[in-house]
Amino acid sequence: GEALAVSARVAPLGSRLVLLLVEDLTEARRIEAVRRDFVANVSHELKTPVGALSLLSEAVMDASDDPEAVERFAGRMQIEATRLTNLVQELIDLSRVQNDDPLEDAEPIRVDELVAEAIDRCRHQAGAKEITMAAGGTADLRVWGNRGQLAAALGNLVENAVNYSPARTRVGIAARTVVQPGGDLIEIAVTDQGIGISDKDKERIFERFYRVDPARSRATGGTGLGLAIVKHVAASHGGEVTVWSAEGQGSTFTLRLPEARAARERAHQMSHRD
Ligand code: ADP
Repeated sequence: GEALAVSARVAPLGSRLVLLLVEDLTEARRIEAVRRDFVANVSHELKTPVGALSLLSEAVMDASDDPEAVERFAGRMQIEATRLTNLVQELIDLSRVQNDDPLEDAEPIRVDELVAEAIDRCRHQAGAKEITMAAGGTADLRVWGNRGQLAAALGNLVENAVNYSPARTRVGIAARTVVQPGGDLIEIAVTDQGIGISDKDKERIFERFYRVDPARSRATGGTGLGLAIVKHVAASHGGEVTVWSAEGQGSTFTLRLPEARAARERAHQMSHRD
């Protein structure tokens, strides 16, 4: 309706301009809707643990003469508090990767260090499920970027692989160089033997707060923000993240990042161009 009215008013300016204006309006409206959804999602995600904490604290007070009940409620309060902490931390991470230019303090980073750090971060969860983690091909490879952001991105992928896999399975991390005319890339693939992702969900899992199974995600402390962070980090480094998956068989998430030497040479050429 409104778009039509606008196009009628500016029609004499030519149809190309009209098209641009209408597209602009639709895009502005889409961005506004995404922002509104995000705020609504954050509020909802915050309300859930805060509400639970408030109820549980009342329950603790009512059960003051029953030590066993107090202990049970206190345990659940701890879980909700952890959930809240995770959410706030991931919101901070997301806003940081969206606002900071990662290439401002970019440096060559050894892939074996990034991988070791990611594995270390998940050692506890993996151990509890007897999941084996193995890395290969990482020797001598270096990527170009922001250490903190890249560690967070790879850490999220490995953490998901562990979280969405049954006990006694394997998580593999493999790295290799992809030679390209526009500058070599380093590919880091994280493969699990987990629950997998349907084709329909594959399109949406990189959206903020999208989860295939919200209950399962929450049970493992998930916030639904991890893959949104990974996607943003990959893109702002001039790379990408893609997924291959077969339901019930497993998934492979592949992170492609600029190779350190190629990226540095390109940056050097750019700064000496004129
Ligand atoms: P979460 O905090 O819920 O893990 P993410 O943004 O990291 O949020 O992932 C979004 C959703 O994508 C998850 O809730 C899960 O449904 C799905 N997902 C992510 N990684 C995997 C994986 N390795 N195997 C199966 N499903 C996955």
